[in-house]
Amino acid sequence: MTDKKYKEIAELGEFGLIDHLTEGIKLKHKSTIHGVGDDAAVLNYGNKMLVVTTDLLLEGIHFNLIYTPLKHLGYKAVVVNLSDVYSMNAIPKQITVSIGVSGKFAVDHLDELYEGIKLACEVYNVDLVGGDTSSSLTGLVISITALGEATKNKFTLRSTAKKNDIICVTGNLGAAYMGLQLLEREKEVFKSTKGAQPNLEGYDYILQRQLKPEARKDIIELLNDINVIPTSMIDISDGLSSEMLHICKNSDVGCKIFQNKIPIDLNTEKMAREFNIEPLIAALNGGEDYELLFTVNVTDFEKIKNQPLIHPIGHIISKENGTVFITESGHSIELQAQGWNPLKKK
Ligand code: ADP
Ligand code: MG
Repeated sequence: MTDKKYKEIAELGEFGLIDHLTEGIKLKHKSTIHGVGDDAAVLNYGNKMLVVTTDLLLEGIHFNLIYTPLKHLGYKAVVVNLSDVYSMNAIPKQITVSIGVSGKFAVDHLDELYEGIKLACEVYNVDLVGGDTSSSLTGLVISITALGEATKNKFTLRSTAKKNDIICVTGNLGAAYMGLQLLEREKEVFKSTKGAQPNLEGYDYILQRQLKPEARKDIIELLNDINVIPTSMIDISDGLSSEMLHICKNSDVGCKIFQNKIPIDLNTEKMAREFNIEPLIAALNGGEDYELLFTVNVTDFEKIKNQPLIHPIGHIISKENGTVFITESGHSIELQAQGWNPLKKK
């Protein structure tokens, strides 16, 4: 048995692993409308749909306590879950919070963490209704589950985009990634130059986008006000390219996205230039923006076209025509989830 060849997890990658582990799961209950595969599960509870989503955050993998204040961490841990609820076009109502705590933490530290958690609950109007607490061998573990409500004909999946739909993105992209680059750089300077104070002045916007992101509650309210139900939606946690490909794969369609339509903030652009990173790369592949990516029927275009927070960036095409990115100079490139760098090809 010792010569059995095990399959490496890296061969599958995160999404491949999830597909592999959840393959063959059969849903037993009529109330389970959608299980694994979207930002949240959708459950039918009478007049309302319940959506459920959970996230796991590990010290050293998802956050670094050297530059992440615990209050911000608590706030962000809640927000990333609420973002998954909003991306179903649902309203979050409750969360549970589970933590694993190693010996290096004192009560005061956890108080700080919970200050952030409670603040997010106030800001987003959700109730903290339970959780679990354990010790941990290797640092801080935070797992949050969020529950939300949607009306029956209004929840939005990743799998329902249709040919000719307009692809929209909210806010701007790449800022959180540039915030992370800045924090990582200053951490290195701090480590190598004894006592050097981090130079973070003038970078408030990208730092806030990384350390204290917000979920797009406002957009869900806006879409409701202007009477638009997206045909599909996902939140942008892993970068625009990756999320766009999720929608295309799950909806069995292709897409055409235009470089000159991708919203990038001036602060992001400035920081990217300083780092010699093409701002577009940060926007396409940088994660943690927690903006929403959605599609709307062309008949709804009039309603969204003058909304300052919503940017049409392209449209859905048939699967046979591929997932296409049109550069500023008019070249057509295949959209790729990672490691794609058009500048390198030149
Ligand atoms: P998101 O980035 O929106 O949080 P993920 O990529 O983490 O979504 O997950 C995609 C889907 O796979 C979700 O439906 C999630 O609930 C499900 N999922 C992730 N990990 C597991 C797991 N270990 N077992 C079962 N389902 C999982
Ligand atoms: Mg998501």
